[in-house]
Amino acid sequence: MRKLKGLPASPGYAIGEAFILKSGVVHLPQEKGDKARQQIQWAKRRLKEELEKEKEGEEGEIFFAHMLLLEDPEIWERVDAKLSEGATLGEALESTKQELVDLFNSLEDERFRSRADDIKDIFNRLLEILMGRDRDIPQGAIIVGEEILPSHIVSYEKWRPRAYISEGGSTFAHSSIIARAKGIPMVIACKGITNILRNGERLIVDGVRGDVIVNPSEKVLALYEERMRLAKEEEEEAFSKRHLQAITRSGLRVKVFANVGNLEEVEEAREMGAEGIGIFRTEFLLLEEDKALNKEEHLRIYEETAKIFYPLPVHIRLYDIGADKPIPFLDLPPEPNPALGLRGIRLLLEKREILLPQLMAVKEAHKKYPNISLILPMVSFPWEVEEIRRLAGDLPVGVMIETPASALIVSKMTQIADFLSIGTNDLLQYTLAVDRAGKDVGKLYDPSHPALWKLIGMVLRGANRKGKEAGICGEIAGEREFIPRLVNMGARHLSVSPRFIPLVKHLIRSLP
Ligand code: PEP
Ligand code: MG
Repeated sequence: MRKLKGLPASPGYAIGEAFILKSGVVHLPQEKGDKARQQIQWAKRRLKEELEKEKEGEEGEIFFAHMLLLEDPEIWERVDAKLSEGATLGEALESTKQELVDLFNSLEDERFRSRADDIKDIFNRLLEILMGRDRDIPQGAIIVGEEILPSHIVSYEKWRPRAYISEGGSTFAHSSIIARAKGIPMVIACKGITNILRNGERLIVDGVRGDVIVNPSEKVLALYEERMRLAKEEEEEAFSKRHLQAITRSGLRVKVFANVGNLEEVEEAREMGAEGIGIFRTEFLLLEEDKALNKEEHLRIYEETAKIFYPLPVHIRLYDIGADKPIPFLDLPPEPNPALGLRGIRLLLEKREILLPQLMAVKEAHKKYPNISLILPMVSFPWEVEEIRRLAGDLPVGVMIETPASALIVSKMTQIADFLSIGTNDLLQYTLAVDRAGKDVGKLYDPSHPALWKLIGMVLRGANRKGKEAGICGEIAGEREFIPRLVNMGARHLSVSPRFIPLVKHLIRSLP
């Protein structure tokens, strides 16, 4: 058993087998001896599962023959002998493949010669599995990568991963946010882990503490099974009361909204007891698109959202494109500091052809569903808000407080905005000058830094003084450790991933 320390990025626990994603230059597997033998067994099992499926298909016979080769002990004795001589796994497989291909090619009989291709196919597939290509991710694995990107989490969903571990990343990077939204535990900043772990190794991922336990003892396994049971119990209790309001014991009501990124999450949010949509991260609608949406496409999504939540509030956030959410089809020129560059409202004001269809759609949706309003990302100047207001007509406009500049001029912001929402993920990044997605600065991205809390206090006091609603939509709004403080400081709403809503309400109810 061995414990590796990372940082918690998405809470929850998982027990399962490691699958290592290799990126960049792919090297042949370097394992030797028994480690190598274990890896071969694991890869053969994986290939067998695939062949089982393929043998039911049109070319079934071919794959049936491959299956027989996979089970032919003579072939694997050859590989084993090479390992015993000290070869690495990659060398043993490559050289056995070549020997057998040469052998079959030297035979007179055409039928035997065609076997050479089958051998090549099987060995290549095994090597691919061992080298961790995406398409070979097994169902229900714990996916380990140097970097886990938002698009990975979206596209790997079909393999139902139990957890993610990455070498880099930071707690509030968008990939962590998506992992939380999907309820998949994630540990980040685990330096060197892709080289330490082996495919198929048994792991416990502790997304609460940020630990990865490799080959756990029976005792530790039992401890985690118990933790999983208790967490489930609390979740069930919270879930049963998810549609009730969240009122503290002294009678203060705090609304719990949802942060969503697509229509499925809107429906999930309603089902989880959300009392509105705090932010609709509309740029997530583009993750799998090759062009921006047109007005009709926007309109359909926003009207549907407003209808599902009517008459509860729905805040549509204008596209927050840029920084760690680059959108490939936009082909923006690279910037040395993208988080400080053309991002969010800045980009939209420069590129009206992207802004206008979205803004016009929200305006139109608001006519039919007055519960809809707009919220602006990455604001640092009052004129950015005023410019949108000029185009927005009577559509209510909220401002996300995500830069120290907008927090420090909160009195001005409360004059020009209808409501405020503190985006603490970015506010923390810009206050500490620590990249929220930075590979090597994850430990510095610390939401307990007093500077963040000073700014939060200023904004909440400023808004409450002017009678404008202000809430929190950064990830800390869903954290057990920070909820009491946020409520105490005057947050009127907390906006979190749909799946955290029942628990956040539950925690608010337990406050004095
Ligand atoms: C934030 O910055 O806190 C926020 C909610 O916006 P996003 O995470 O989408 O940048
Ligand atoms: Mg933000």
